Amino acid sequence: KKIAIAIDGPAGAGKSSISKVVAKELQYLYIDTGAMYRAVTWAVLHEHLEVSNQKAVEALLPSLDLTMEPTDTAFKVFVRGEDITDYIRQQKINENVSTIASYKGVRQYLVERQQAMASVGGVILDGRDIGSVVLPNAELKIYLTASVEARAMRRYLEVKGTTNEQSLEDIKISVMQRDKMDKTRQESPLIQVEDAILVDSSNMTFDETVDYILHLVRE
Ligand code: C5P
Repeated sequence: KKIAIAIDGPAGAGKSSISKVVAKELQYLYIDTGAMYRAVTWAVLHEHLEVSNQKAVEALLPSLDLTMEPTDTAFKVFVRGEDITDYIRQQKINENVSTIASYKGVRQYLVERQQAMASVGGVILDGRDIGSVVLPNAELKIYLTASVEARAMRRYLEVKGTTNEQSLEDIKISVMQRDKMDKTRQESPLIQVEDAILVDSSNMTFDETVDYILHLVRE
């Protein structure tokens, strides 16, 4: 039987890379909800709107024509038909996405789309509010985390040698700032829901984490 899997956790815990592999293995649909918040943030910056102007940000939503194209190897996001997937991991987006994600109207708009996409069944969604808000009835909920040092190091190795390269210390600070905003915001803060299974991957390899989650699904 195909189920719905919710994976929540802090920035850099490896949620999306792990979810992608698990989804492929199970032949499930993978939905990267963070990419959707990032896409809205990209559009806000692209339109030169004030990030702090909640009303203006929310007013932009209906004209975005935000569409998603999930495949088994990627999750692409489009704004007004333009594929912006390659632009949403930039530092400028990292710095502003948690503010955009704190707006009630933005969350309502995206949660509705996420629930519609997930209604096909056999899905794995990763984010911050999947187990609590998007899919409160998911059959398997995982809270995937790791120490801030481990998360910063993985992210550092990921961006090293790319145009998004940053020092380990800067990455650590940025990860901690995002965690704090995501955990303390008013609207659907990041929490470990009661029925979620805690997976701390600080001392686990990528493959070990994937195998453990597959074991939980097949159990
Ligand atoms: O997962 P990712 O790091 O791409 O998410 C980017 C940001 O989007 C998070 O730091 C968080 O502020 C927001 N987000 C959220 N709810 C989700 C997914 C992401 O608030 N379900």
